Amino acid sequence: RPNVGKSSLVNRLAGEDRVVVADEPGTTRDATDTRIERNGQAFILIDTAGLRRPGRREGLVERTSALMTVRALERADVALVLIDANEGFTDQDARVAGLVRDRGRACAVLLNKWDLVEQQGADAKHRVRDGIAQGLRFMADAPLHPISARTGRGLDGIFPLVRRLEAASARRIGTAELNRWLRATVAKHEPAM
Ligand code: GDP
Repeated sequence: RPNVGKSSLVNRLAGEDRVVVADEPGTTRDATDTRIERNGQAFILIDTAGLRRPGRREGLVERTSALMTVRALERADVALVLIDANEGFTDQDARVAGLVRDRGRACAVLLNKWDLVEQQGADAKHRVRDGIAQGLRFMADAPLHPISARTGRGLDGIFPLVRRLEAASARRIGTAELNRWLRATVAKHEPAM
């Protein structure tokens, strides 16, 4: 979604310790990829930049955006959905989050521009967070993480979050374990006829 702060976030993360390296074998690189290092670990940020095509017809922008997002998702281990917290949850956020869910990607939701929300006091913080959680109830297990690409608030916390999600998504679950879970879940919530 345009204007939520994707470029600001990438610039801020990369600006601190941008690492310029030659292409690594086995790594798909793209013009919008940014490689950074944190605590000795390498991360490749895949931006969905290029979504904005001023002057194009609205329907085309929508289709192009969805296509670019799906392409970026296919190359990513973990998806970070950025939301403009100051504006609150929109239909377009729901569409972006829906694409991530449909692709089955591990996902965290970054509530950007939190600096603007904080200025409005504690009530606003709760109201905004609840509103976004309500909009995202179809993927209620995705962690919500407030950040400000402008002030730098919360940015360090993104990395442990990403590592946790990556580890969770790489976990193999055996058939027996899955069946036990399924039986217990069905026993708890009898499915509707
Ligand atoms: P993109 O279209 O998603 O890449 O969004 P941009 O990075 O271009 O940001 C859109 C606008 O939001 C710019 O005017 C940014 O300066 C502003 N912006 C981005 N992040 C923040 C933030 O954390 N706080 C505030 N107050 N403004 C922000």
